[in-house]
Amino acid sequence: MAELAFFCGTMDCGKSTLALQTEHNHRAAGREGLTFTCHDRAGAAVVSSRLGLVRSAIEVTADLDFWQVVVAQRVGRQRVDYLICDEAQFYSAQQVDQLARLVDEMGLDVFAFGITADFRTRLFPGSQRLLELADRVQVLQVEALCWCGARATHNARTHDGVMVVEGAQVIVGDTRGASGPTPADGERQVGRIEYEVLCRRHHMRRMTRAGAHAVTGPPDVLPSDVLPIDVMPIDVRSQVGRSQVGRPQDSASPPRRPYADRHG
Ligand SMILES: [Zn+2]
Repeated sequence: MAELAFFCGTMDCGKSTLALQTEHNHRAAGREGLTFTCHDRAGAAVVSSRLGLVRSAIEVTADLDFWQVVVAQRVGRQRVDYLICDEAQFYSAQQVDQLARLVDEMGLDVFAFGITADFRTRLFPGSQRLLELADRVQVLQVEALCWCGARATHNARTHDGVMVVEGAQVIVGDTRGASGPTPADGERQVGRIEYEVLCRRHHMRRMTRAGAHAVTGPPDVLPSDVLPIDVMPIDVRSQVGRSQVGRPQDSASPPRRPYADRHG
């Protein structure tokens, strides 16, 4: 049974690696498919993973019609059994509708991979439509970690090192801090755009790794009974992060003052 599957998560959680692995597995099983991407970090018409894998792909432009692409392939007597759709958050809602129609009317399997929410914590249009239409939604299990060690669930954008929560939804920036911005929305940006994954707590407080290190006074780590992250051995950081995520609020502890009170 053909299906529309959406694999989602934050940046750094291995989506493109899984997209390339999925493509490999289906091809190895004798199936034929097409791979698409949009604004990949490595440039146009290529899917790249942080682990170093790279594969050519069809760049999804605003006017690309998935239905027409597949029809053209089949008219040319090219088999198409499945589609690999990376960076699907950048697709339009209409393009996701086309993907669903290909599943239902042509029996293709469509495997879409994308980030759910942008740096403002709002759903990308492509991801929203995929969540609405997919037969199966899978949140990727490779956990990206916030600088505090907790599970990173949100994407932050920094502009010249300062976290911002307003601006164009799509600006392809750098996640490693090595190069300048690549404007994707037709507007040239001034300054350096970078992205970083954070836990919700630190996203809400606009506290990036650099910002946390710049703050003087007690480290911003909760709850108060754990050691500051910076004095812990590195191998226990992820454990602390996990225990914080799942721990219910301790009603016996004093109410927390707002962040601005303590550091403002
Ligand atoms: Zn955090």
